[in-house]
Amino acid sequence: MDTVNKQLMHQIVEGDISREDIREMLKMNPKDKERFFTYIEVLQERVNWDDPILLRISDNLYVVRKPNGERVTQCHCGHDFGDYRINWKTGCNVRVRKTAESIGEVYYPSPACPEPEWTQIREFYCPSCFHQLGVEAAPPGYPFIFEVLPDIDRLYREFLDRPLDDESPDWYKDKTLEKMAQWGQAIP
Ligand SMILES: [Zn+2]
Repeated sequence: MDTVNKQLMHQIVEGDISREDIREMLKMNPKDKERFFTYIEVLQERVNWDDPILLRISDNLYVVRKPNGERVTQCHCGHDFGDYRINWKTGCNVRVRKTAESIGEVYYPSPACPEPEWTQIREFYCPSCFHQLGVEAAPPGYPFIFEVLPDIDRLYREFLDRPLDDESPDWYKDKTLEKMAQWGQAIP
């Protein structure tokens, strides 16, 4: 096996790859750069929209390029969370578990439960399809954790040898605080 073909990639994405194929893949030269693009091709076929996927950042979330050139975080269902440089969690429906009782519903056994004075559990849901997109445990008042701000230009240029044509130093910047500042201005 020299490359991962599309059929095999389908199986990897679906999670039903055989033991023999796993063994074969382990023996492969890891510098198979085409594998990433086969992966993207397979992902693109699994969604109902046409915005080109630049990167998958979790099971249901992708960074995609919109027709106007913006790079946004988008749910599998097509919900657009806006600029990928802003933490997508700020666009979610959020459920916060902050009492021992509500935290106890998702922790077992009970001695494993964090203490609500120190920790709250936040669940993030897509406002359109209501899929749970993420969960985090954080101290009360702590900002939403921005799990991944990928340097997409560098990935494509340095690791995949296919630089994107809209490269700019501006793409690799956390803009979450700008959105929070807008929220602050909206409060009378
Ligand atoms: Zn969704």
